Amino acid sequence: MGESMNDLEALDARHVVHPWADLSVLGKQQPLVVSRAHGVEIVDSHGRSYLDAIGGMWCVTVGYGRQEIIDAVRDQAARMPYFTPFGDVANEPAVRLAGLLAGLAPGDLNRVHFTTGGSTAVESAVRTAQFYWASVGRPDKFHVLSRVDAYHGSTYLAASLSGKAADRTRFHYESGWVHHLDSPGHDPDTSDVPADRRLDELLDGMTAAIDEIGPENIACFVAEPILASGGVLIPPPGYHAATRELCRRHDILYVSDETVTGFGRLGHFFASEPHFGIVPDLLVTAKGLTSGYQPLGAVLIADPIAETLAETADPAKPVFSNGFTYSGHPVACAAAIANIEVMRREDICGHVRDVGPYFVERLRALRSSPIVYAVRGDHLMACVECQVPGETGPTPRNMALAGRVDAYCERAGLLVRPYENLCIMSPPLVVTRAEIDRMVDIVAGALAAAQADLDAGRIG
Ligand code: PMP
Repeated sequence: MGESMNDLEALDARHVVHPWADLSVLGKQQPLVVSRAHGVEIVDSHGRSYLDAIGGMWCVTVGYGRQEIIDAVRDQAARMPYFTPFGDVANEPAVRLAGLLAGLAPGDLNRVHFTTGGSTAVESAVRTAQFYWASVGRPDKFHVLSRVDAYHGSTYLAASLSGKAADRTRFHYESGWVHHLDSPGHDPDTSDVPADRRLDELLDGMTAAIDEIGPENIACFVAEPILASGGVLIPPPGYHAATRELCRRHDILYVSDETVTGFGRLGHFFASEPHFGIVPDLLVTAKGLTSGYQPLGAVLIADPIAETLAETADPAKPVFSNGFTYSGHPVACAAAIANIEVMRREDICGHVRDVGPYFVERLRALRSSPIVYAVRGDHLMACVECQVPGETGPTPRNMALAGRVDAYCERAGLLVRPYENLCIMSPPLVVTRAEIDRMVDIVAGALAAAQADLDAGRIG
């Protein structure tokens, strides 16, 4: 290729607008150009290694460089890289994968509608819910309940469902029929309100919203079991079962967005069941489905819903007009099958149940730092929330402080995901206790260095 690193950085700055780019440095960005990866380590184009505490982006579960996934991708690309998935055309890996997913999914979620990623799966799930109600003669049932602080993706409807105020400026979103309930996170360490009272408040709020909108107008409730990108926000115990029951009582379909929580991150293939003890009507999966080796998403649909759709098909226009050129792409499905084989053979979920509590416990010890406001986590998803003592939330100074912690981590060879005043961590699921120790020790050192900067007046 012959180009130097500086050439690549200059090309990036000149031509690439990154997803979620910081526009204040557009054209001047200093990218981390990643070149290689193995196990839980990333190597940049300068040859520097980093422990990956981000898991790619919540998605790399079985680690980098897995030969059997690489082989599956290569073999499928050679045998049959692509053909349309529309209508009655099937490709072999997609069919096999659908069978595997039905076997792994909770309850009667036995029908699989493939997409290309998380956003397209969320959109497809909501469209399926709206289409379902129209099919059974209730076309007014199209409103959607979501939550403040949710993240469901970056296409128009998925972004409309997302509920982070900071991401909503200067965009136009659907608001007429998308409704945001209160953020459901409850941290017993930092909240004055006991968990059971918070649960009552959340359920009262949801009931009031349903009454106001009218259950006859609501198609579905869309919920991440734990709000991931919103800041690892964990609802109080009992929330999942109670909201599931509210939905059932009001004929509102429950859509669980397991883009992050699925595929082992909480110690099971899906967190809805058994971790949270619910079986949703529709379940969204993406990311860890292929361990990030290929882009893929899917909506799992409960049998009764799919059967009703078939029974109520319009004879004049029986087509379900939803799907993408690359829905259930054969190469991506081949990667997912190989990924599931690795996960099963190595009992990756069992490993997460083993090391996950250790990860959270070690991180929670960081709460003794004066610049840590909170540490939240469940198995291998966690975050450290930074604060200038006495100043809570994503204030400019708190964000600068967290940015400094991230920068010190990177300098010490650890990649964590910076978000507002949070350092979010979701390492590959194969992470060992020794690697967890290294990660947490680096974060502890970074906190100490950032605190020294703060004390010396070098922040904000
Ligand atoms: N849902 C959730 C819960 C997510 O975290 C994400 C991505 N972070 C998405 C949906 C969107 O997925 P994608 O970026 O693959 O479209």
